[in-house]
Amino acid sequence: MFHQLSGKNVLILFHNDLRVMDNATLSKAAKLSRDGRLLLVYASSLMDILDNQNSQAAYHYDTMGVARQQFLQESLADLNTSLELLGNKLLHLHKTPTSPNTFMQLNELIEAQQVTDICVSQTADYYQNQIYVRLQNKHPQIRWHIETTATLFDELPLDDLPKSFTQFRKKIEADYDLLHAAQDIAICATPERLAPIPESLVDRCEYEYFFKAGEDNAQAISQQKQQSSNFKGGESNGLNHLKSYFNSDAPSTYKITRNALDEWTHSTKFSAWLANGSLSVNTILNRLRRYERDVIANDSTYWIWFELLRREYFYWYAVTHQQKLFWFKGIGQHTPSTQLDQKKLEQWRNGDTAYPIVNACMHQLKATGYMSNRGRQLVASCFIHELGLDWRYGATYFEQHLIDYDVASNWGNWQYLAGVGADPRGCRQFNLDKQTQQYDPNGKFIHQWQGVLKQDS
Ligand SMILES: Cc1cc2nc3c(=O)[nH]c(=O)nc-3n(C[C@H](O)[C@H](O)[C@H](O)COP(=O)(O)OP(=O)(O)OC[C@H]3O[C@@H](n4cnc5c(N)ncnc54)[C@H](O)[C@@H]3O)c2cc1C
Repeated sequence: MFHQLSGKNVLILFHNDLRVMDNATLSKAAKLSRDGRLLLVYASSLMDILDNQNSQAAYHYDTMGVARQQFLQESLADLNTSLELLGNKLLHLHKTPTSPNTFMQLNELIEAQQVTDICVSQTADYYQNQIYVRLQNKHPQIRWHIETTATLFDELPLDDLPKSFTQFRKKIEADYDLLHAAQDIAICATPERLAPIPESLVDRCEYEYFFKAGEDNAQAISQQKQQSSNFKGGESNGLNHLKSYFNSDAPSTYKITRNALDEWTHSTKFSAWLANGSLSVNTILNRLRRYERDVIANDSTYWIWFELLRREYFYWYAVTHQQKLFWFKGIGQHTPSTQLDQKKLEQWRNGDTAYPIVNACMHQLKATGYMSNRGRQLVASCFIHELGLDWRYGATYFEQHLIDYDVASNWGNWQYLAGVGADPRGCRQFNLDKQTQQYDPNGKFIHQWQGVLKQDS
């Protein structure tokens, strides 16, 4: 049994902040636990306890896609390595045959280890916040510390969230132009050393929740061999990618190439590391500023900042609208006329529609967990307009498979395209033939991802 020392027993509940560099939550926990003990926890499947209302349960998906699982596992493994170098290690609460409820596991850990303080990162994820509320209610004596790790701003820097991204961007650029500010954004120092894990756990070297690579999903991944992918999860890989991207010429042509369907260097590919917090947006922005100083500042480098601001907009959009992010009518007043049709839904998911470009994108998504921004717009437009389907099922399928799944960017963009979100002009329909001509004139992408179906299908 753990005997309480004079110091605090601090627990970090990691979520989308899987890094040690520029992680204000880790820094805060390191300070609080200086004379005490520190528990570093990642808990899978916590949302299972939230009745039926969360997106996964409501629109039918049981498990994460294989590519997404794999990216997450790589990210956790890398985090664990970094934490071990700092003198602690990651605990990964996950379902086991004898203990299928990770929320209960977490509560047991909190009680057994007499946790005094919990540190988490601020999140726009409504359901994750519901988990925090439940924990707070269950353990009212514990002190909570919430830090900013995912965004450029600690809070919405405007009185209200503007109705469109354009209005938001203009206001931000007028008052908070971080791209051209005199100083770099301050980066939170990585702790030199972390307080140890409680003795009672150290003594149990077979403790079942010490992180082990692949424990959640080894079987699933080995059953469905992954396409080799440039996306390798984890902070070290994210930082390597950041370095090689800004050591190349790609940033100087980003605005011209960003709509391409498949080339690695044609867009930044930061999204997957940003989404689970392996890379901090502050670090990316500082590197972009350096590129502008040392190499070139042009429309393309500006446009990277522009897109990071779009990400920021959707974050504050999700914070502002809470559950409405998942409502069929979104933030609007009118329920769309689209509906669920299981057969069409399956055709779309399997890349088995009458639209080769859509099929190719959907095959790419299933195989790699990634799809370009252009691809996402086209398949979503097809889903809503050509197939007449309820947009929430499309968003949920993306949630299941995207390695860069981010609650705010995903559900916010789907709402936008469905005409129930942040778009004063109403819904967006793309002409799929024209788009194919423009973005895949020689059919290379469609061929590569087998978008043309056999005659009998
Ligand atoms: C229907 C739909 C669903 C989407 N779901 C997600 C999602 O779950 N997670 C996610 O990160 N992005 C999502 N996006 C946004 C965008 O498609 C991806 O961020 C982008 O394709 C990732 O590739 P990249 O990093 O090379 O982007 P780049 O073009 O290099 O952009 C740089 C960064 O800016 C941000 N960004 C770019 N475009 C957008 C955008 N439209 N909305 C918000 N942020 C943006 C991303 O963080 C991205 O990494 C979605 C877009 C659509 C149309």
